[in-house]
Amino acid sequence: MNRDMHDESQHAPARARHIVRQRLESLQRAGVEQLGRVSNTDLVSPPLEQPPERTADLLADSTTDLPVLTLAQRQSRLSKLCEQVSACELCPELVQNRTQTVFGVGNPEARLCFFGEAPGADEDKQGEPFVGQAGQLLNKIIEACTLTRNDIYILNVLKCRPPGNRNPNPEEAQNCRTFFESQLEIIQPEFICCLGSVAATTLLDTKAPIGKLRGRLHSWRWARVLATYHPAYLLRNPAAKRDVWEDMQLLMREMGIKVPNAKS
Ligand code: URA
Repeated sequence: MNRDMHDESQHAPARARHIVRQRLESLQRAGVEQLGRVSNTDLVSPPLEQPPERTADLLADSTTDLPVLTLAQRQSRLSKLCEQVSACELCPELVQNRTQTVFGVGNPEARLCFFGEAPGADEDKQGEPFVGQAGQLLNKIIEACTLTRNDIYILNVLKCRPPGNRNPNPEEAQNCRTFFESQLEIIQPEFICCLGSVAATTLLDTKAPIGKLRGRLHSWRWARVLATYHPAYLLRNPAAKRDVWEDMQLLMREMGIKVPNAKS
């Protein structure tokens, strides 16, 4: 069976529950305490005489595999995880060469995470992902989607810079898996945008080339995943910007975000 189809059918109910829960939480945060009932019969008969549902009761009813976390809990768990990352010595070559670990940055309640490959020289110096040239281009992509860095969260597969900016090897990616999966479990994004082949193949556990993975949505546990070209690749191949823009428009449509000048 096609891997994506398998994942899709296996995780769709959990994802639906997760999305309903996120929507309820955001309504609750906005001060909505009860919701009116809607049923199919409303279309053909007068509204049923039923009391409105309390948002808190609906939340308590909606079971999900992921824990419900407040902003404070997310911040505290991320900061504990960040401490563990900075003490990690699983990859001797990376430990020897790193200035510091690069954990992640952004909104712990983000609906969308950008998932990159590994820190480069600038990130290693500053301790933040995507602050170099590729980061400047990523900022432009984020802005074109009418988002800001405060709306999203950015993390990488590897938390240490590979020497000479070589590709992460599979063992290093595996060593960091617990860290990036834990980050994603805390943030619980509805959407993950994989930047480049290393991020996409590591997350989706596939050997398919990025050119075959882009242009459609995949599934990872509860999240919907878009894979697109890495900004560093775009710096070398500006013609591929058109493909990335198409991918981002698809993602924004799925997220329900209106983007000016986008194809409908
Ligand atoms: N490239 C990445 O994949 N991540 C960074 O943080 C910077 C460059």
